[in-house]
Amino acid sequence: MSSVLLERVNVFDPASGVRTENMNVHIEDGSVRAISPEPITASVDLRLAMPGHTVLPGFIDLHVHIVASKVDFAANARMPNFLAALKTLPILRGMLNRGFTTVRDAGGADYGMCEAVNTGVLLGPRILSSGKALSQTGGHGDFRPRSDQLGDTCGCLGRQGSISRVVDGEDAMRLAVREELLKGASQIKVMASGGVASPNDPIGNTQYSLAELRAAVEEAQAVGTYVMAHAYTPQAIQRAIKCGVRTIEHGNLIDEETARLIVEHNAFVVPTLSTLDRLSEQGPALGFPPESLAKIDQARSVGRQALALMARVGVKMGYGSDMLGELHQFQSDEFGVRAKVIGPLEAIRSATSIAAEIIGEPGRSGTVAAGAKADLAIVAGDPLEDISLLSGQGENIPMVIKDGKVVKLKGQLTESVK
Ligand code: ZN
Ligand code: ZN
Repeated sequence: MSSVLLERVNVFDPASGVRTENMNVHIEDGSVRAISPEPITASVDLRLAMPGHTVLPGFIDLHVHIVASKVDFAANARMPNFLAALKTLPILRGMLNRGFTTVRDAGGADYGMCEAVNTGVLLGPRILSSGKALSQTGGHGDFRPRSDQLGDTCGCLGRQGSISRVVDGEDAMRLAVREELLKGASQIKVMASGGVASPNDPIGNTQYSLAELRAAVEEAQAVGTYVMAHAYTPQAIQRAIKCGVRTIEHGNLIDEETARLIVEHNAFVVPTLSTLDRLSEQGPALGFPPESLAKIDQARSVGRQALALMARVGVKMGYGSDMLGELHQFQSDEFGVRAKVIGPLEAIRSATSIAAEIIGEPGRSGTVAAGAKADLAIVAGDPLEDISLLSGQGENIPMVIKDGKVVKLKGQLTESVK
């Protein structure tokens, strides 16, 4: 079904903020061909009248870990490769079901997995992979226990289920970035501060030297891409931004001075609030390590204030779920969490028009307009009135179109994969 006509739908374009009612939307060859209040007479594969439904751009989640089938990163890294790969399949299907047509993987997804999805072998959202996230020894991507017998490496490289690899030194950083790009990464991910889901690094730590961070940015920019950095504190964020990092992941402890610096540098933040809520609530039962659980509140308690501060200062924020393991089902929680602080319009923009800017596709993705990519989520009702329509498992999103093809119809994922 490569040509589709949606009749009598409402259209909401987050890029312009304009909502129009009773429109006809013609989709052909992967693009939105026309949007018109007048009847469209075209011969199409599928013609569907959906009054009361709203056509939105397919959502873009800028921070996922598709290989994190368990909440415990160390357990994921130990998993046999084939098993780890198979366990990503329901995760990908779930994302598509919830209306996400593009995801930016923040560490773990490999090129083979992306190719399988992007060539139609597997059903899932388009994946923009970072390859393995790069971490210093003892950093947020080093999951070895404290021991006097560490061995040469963390054993992460070549592990399908690992989100990261350990890299130290400027030259090694250059090589690792080049390797991840060779393996097909769309952008590079570095761990630039301590984190929650790692055993040995307090959140307040800065990670990587400035020279290492600059080396990563230089190598990424050399091929026309950019670096995304995991960072929580003002100090860690400022170091990363001054070295040329383009997107800050999390940013929970940000202050006003740092937020202004981000705006000056035309950089972005991808906050990830709801994952910490779910981890603190369900982590203990799911085997989230106790040393990590103890760190959650530091970041969680200030997350919503950070969101309000960034909105006030004018920081552009993209949508990030960062769900792990069994918590992937809560990917859409972030819409509701953000809507409470910055309103439903900005919450939706973070996963559409702003996200498209971050991935370098403004005007092409994240918008419903003639000539734009036909990645669409069709919602039963108006999510600007009721943001909870986007939550759950896509129960209120009966239809999803990805790259002009219907991948979900009447509430069911289609099985037309090769
Ligand atoms: Zn992170
Ligand atoms: Zn993450």
